[in-house]
Amino acid sequence: MRLLIFGPPGAGKGTQAQFISERYHIPHISTGDLFREHIRNSTPLGIAAKQASESGELVSDSVTNAMVRERLFKPDTAGGFLLDGFPRTPDQAESLEEMLAEHGGPIIAVLRLKVPDEEIIGRLMYRGRTDDSEDTVRRRLRIYHDTTEPIAEYYRAKGLLVDIMGVGSIDDITGRIFAEIDARAKG
Ligand code: AMP
Repeated sequence: MRLLIFGPPGAGKGTQAQFISERYHIPHISTGDLFREHIRNSTPLGIAAKQASESGELVSDSVTNAMVRERLFKPDTAGGFLLDGFPRTPDQAESLEEMLAEHGGPIIAVLRLKVPDEEIIGRLMYRGRTDDSEDTVRRRLRIYHDTTEPIAEYYRAKGLLVDIMGVGSIDDITGRIFAEIDARAKG
């Protein structure tokens, strides 16, 4: 089962992705986590990504696409994957299409968590990650709305977009997500 999840920073993607990964036995591949790991290990990719990532800007498409490609073709993705935080630009969406053609199958759903901006800002002030200062959060939200959200329309046109209300208890949100995935997996 191949799935995408996206939503603004602080929407609860990481938490929900973990639950999805466990229930459907597919690896959770988060580009944000991958970048943080490369940065921690000071790999060439991490060095290339460090400045953009820590100031809340997007890392370049070429660096990002190369990193995702490397991860997506590891053996543990044979039964599918949940991709979190990618694609975030039209160039990345195109690159993903090429990767999927080689991977052996399409994605069955693009889950979009919807959370109002003001709620996001409140939540992230408490998270305490180095890229969570108020200015950086606002910048990341602006990039999300300007650059990443239009990608949703591309998937809507393909009939893949599933909007999930990302407000309420974590369990309720997980329940909504599982119901949508199950409906599509059967379909
Ligand atoms: P996230 O944990 O998904 O909020 O990502 C943290 C940071 O990693 C972002 O602010 C970007 O700098 C970088 N990043 C993650 N995914 C991507 C992507 N698909 N394209 C470019 N930069 C990304």
